[in-house]
Amino acid sequence: MGRKAFGHFLKSAPLSFDLHDELTMVVEDNTHSNTLIIGAGPAGLAVGACLKQADIPFIILEKSDKVAPAWHRHYDRLHLHTDKKNSELPFLPYPKVYPRYPSRSQVVDYLETYSQKFQLDIRFQQEVISARYANAHWEVQSQDTLYHATNLVIAAGCNQEPFLHTWPGQDLFNGKIIHSSEYKNGELFRGKKVLVVGFGNSGGEIAIDLWEYGANVSLAVRSAVNVIPRELFGIPILSIGILQSKLPASLADMINKPILHFAIGDITKYGLRKLPYGPLTKIRQDGHIPLIDIGTLKLIKNGRVTVHPGVREFIGEGVVFMDGKQSQFDAIILATGYRPGLDTFLSGPSAAVSDKNGMPLSSGSETNMPGLYFCGYYVAPTGMLREIGLEAKRISASISRKFALQP
Ligand SMILES: Cc1cc2nc3c(=O)[nH]c(=O)nc-3n(C[C@H](O)[C@H](O)[C@H](O)COP(=O)(O)OP(=O)(O)OC[C@H]3O[C@@H](n4cnc5c(N)ncnc54)[C@H](O)[C@@H]3O)c2cc1C
Repeated sequence: MGRKAFGHFLKSAPLSFDLHDELTMVVEDNTHSNTLIIGAGPAGLAVGACLKQADIPFIILEKSDKVAPAWHRHYDRLHLHTDKKNSELPFLPYPKVYPRYPSRSQVVDYLETYSQKFQLDIRFQQEVISARYANAHWEVQSQDTLYHATNLVIAAGCNQEPFLHTWPGQDLFNGKIIHSSEYKNGELFRGKKVLVVGFGNSGGEIAIDLWEYGANVSLAVRSAVNVIPRELFGIPILSIGILQSKLPASLADMINKPILHFAIGDITKYGLRKLPYGPLTKIRQDGHIPLIDIGTLKLIKNGRVTVHPGVREFIGEGVVFMDGKQSQFDAIILATGYRPGLDTFLSGPSAAVSDKNGMPLSSGSETNMPGLYFCGYYVAPTGMLREIGLEAKRISASISRKFALQP
């Protein structure tokens, strides 16, 4: 809590308390701070580390019992698609012994080390159920505690809620349907006919994993797509995106087109439809990261993974695709993405800071609500983890400036 807000808080305190009692209560109940951060994933940890360096008091509220729970849960095969140099959080590189693309468990270790190194004040099992701006400060309610602060940083993740598309007849399907967030590995699917719905990075890698476990794999790809390699001539694709980040997306796409065609080939030969514009334009337009190919395309080219159009409807034994063909499947994995789910705790005027899809209108700077920041909601062609680090530094600088000006 900033000095001004703290004064306001004291003024509005019940008359039966004297100043000493009130100060004691504030120190003892430990629920007031200059800044509250919701979420102890990479974004919340990065903002915490930056505020710690700037000597700004803060508390992190995390609904789970551990840091970065999403990285604990993700499927076993996952490695960063972005190289470690461009995926580090402020002030701490990944260990030298880690490979260029660290595994999921290495990312978990890195994030746990990060929170310990900066001794971040994280309150676990505190699920924020409402956040509102009242009397010139933020009131944040968890399931059992009310917190107050001048600034609120929402770092609750843009992948908070699985997006579960539904189709006609879905209830009739006899097999198993899961979202990619529930997928751990292909063990359960050995020898089974499995359809992966969606051609994002999770869908692409889960298809590989299933094939490696001996499943018979198909992909349902509804829309036209772009595919990019993870590296070009040994250089991480992200580094190229960063070099080109100042160029207009359409110009960068035009420059990259022949090189990408050389690296990827003609995807339309394999049942995929190519978007009429390039990957950077797509990311700028609707925040969709293209498939960063780590082997899915090779399996498709070799006929090991079959591509179908989008799903039209379900039947008892399988699905009917948009082209009218039907196929039998034992299981369906919905790699259909996520939503931020901010409406679970942000409502009223505070909710006006997000668009119709629930994505914040800005990330990394103060919103038009006083003291409210989002971190980690900009889907960037330069990598989300890298962007989280940059946003965290900007947010911390903004909060520090205000803190220094307080009387
Ligand atoms: C499968 C997958 C792979 C990815 N790979 C890469 C990659 O290679 N490179 C890259 O740059 N990016 C990658 N990303 C994107 C992004 O970097 C990660 O999603 C990253 O974890 C985002 O960090 P975050 O802190 O914003 O969100 P999260 O990691 O989702 O953390 C949000 C935290 O907020 C907590 N929380 C949410 N709501 C509440 C509440 N109401 N109260 C209290 N706590 C709450 C959650 O429990 C969670 O701990 C990947 C994403 C996914 C899904």
